[in-house]
Amino acid sequence: MNAVLVVNSGSSSIKYQVIDERSGDRLAQGLVERIGERGAGRVVYRSAAGEAVTEQDIPDHSAGFAAIVEEFRAAGTPIDSLGIVAVGHRVVHGGSDFIAPTMIDDAVAQRILDLAELAPLHNPGHYAAIVAARAVFPDLPHVAVFDTAFHQTMPESAYTYALDRGLAAEHGIRRYGFHGISHQVVSRRAATHLDRPLESLRQIVLHLGNGASVCAIDGGRSVDTSMGLTPLEGLVMGTRSGNIDAGAILHLLRRGVSIDDVDRELNKRAGFLGMTGSNDFRDVRAAAAAGDEAATLAIDVYVHRARHYLGAYLAVLGGADTVVFTAGLGENGPDLRALICAGFEWCGLRLDQAKNEAPGSGARVISADDSEITVLVVPADEEAEIAQQSIALVASS
Ligand code: AMP
Repeated sequence: MNAVLVVNSGSSSIKYQVIDERSGDRLAQGLVERIGERGAGRVVYRSAAGEAVTEQDIPDHSAGFAAIVEEFRAAGTPIDSLGIVAVGHRVVHGGSDFIAPTMIDDAVAQRILDLAELAPLHNPGHYAAIVAARAVFPDLPHVAVFDTAFHQTMPESAYTYALDRGLAAEHGIRRYGFHGISHQVVSRRAATHLDRPLESLRQIVLHLGNGASVCAIDGGRSVDTSMGLTPLEGLVMGTRSGNIDAGAILHLLRRGVSIDDVDRELNKRAGFLGMTGSNDFRDVRAAAAAGDEAATLAIDVYVHRARHYLGAYLAVLGGADTVVFTAGLGENGPDLRALICAGFEWCGLRLDQAKNEAPGSGARVISADDSEITVLVVPADEEAEIAQQSIALVASS
């Protein structure tokens, strides 16, 4: 049996899954959180054998991995008994350097740390976890799978901001795009589900989770996406504003709001949270149903923005063969899906109301039989994709 340890780390957390390469089954999964908060660390371990939750001091990511290894031992299935052949690390920002999954050596790890300049919230935590994991599992190959890599096929016209060329080059300012692992696997699964060659399809994927982005995919290649230099651009999200006039930021700065506060306002206190008081669409939906005007407006703004991108990417692709919804709201929001797709009949997009509203968990078609654009819901399983990409790289090198 071959398994992959998939690691998704943040500055104060490590989430992991051990995935059987062939079946995709989770052999175990868990997380370590509140790393670096004195006396507040929490370690969760889950497997078929049961669940264990412990509280302990986790000063850094090395201690986090030591705690993970200890949980496996305590559960009676030491981690080295699981047939793990690779460690796959999810890395949010690969800049322009990384266009594919990459075997991690010292130089690659250092470059991931250097890219913290572009992703200060994410890459330092990835680096800390990579260093710690390589120390705990020195004999295993470690692979970095990047959220940005899939979008490196975007044409210059799509990724260039209209700034002074020298300034943009000096500071690395361009659009990179994120959620690439999700957009890639979801578009591939949609093609498989329809039994059509990926290369023949123009697809628009809406990844609507707490973070959200849209991607225009031509023949399996990303040609445009809504996130930019950072994951702040584009759609309205759980706590992020998405698109906003850069002049609004200058206005806030000139009025004395600090850079850190502007950062917090746009990334952590905006979106559904800022407009309604909750970042969770279930709360927003319930409030709107109860007549809350702010919640109703928030949904209108969300839908309006998503429809902008749907229309824009129909233009970018010259039409579409599929529109695919994925992630928390995309998979569980038939009401949102209907609002976003309404009025696109002019381009041959017609939802089937019953199919859209029918509960389901796997990949499924929700458009009418006579719809020229096939609309699907496809669950995102980014961890399984990271496992597959990691093992493919290890097998080929
Ligand atoms: P994700 O980032 O993909 O895990 O998505 C998380 C978000 O999906 C939550 O914050 C909710 O807003 C939304 N979500 C999850 N489950 C549901 C549901 N059953 N109905 C509506 N929205 C949901």
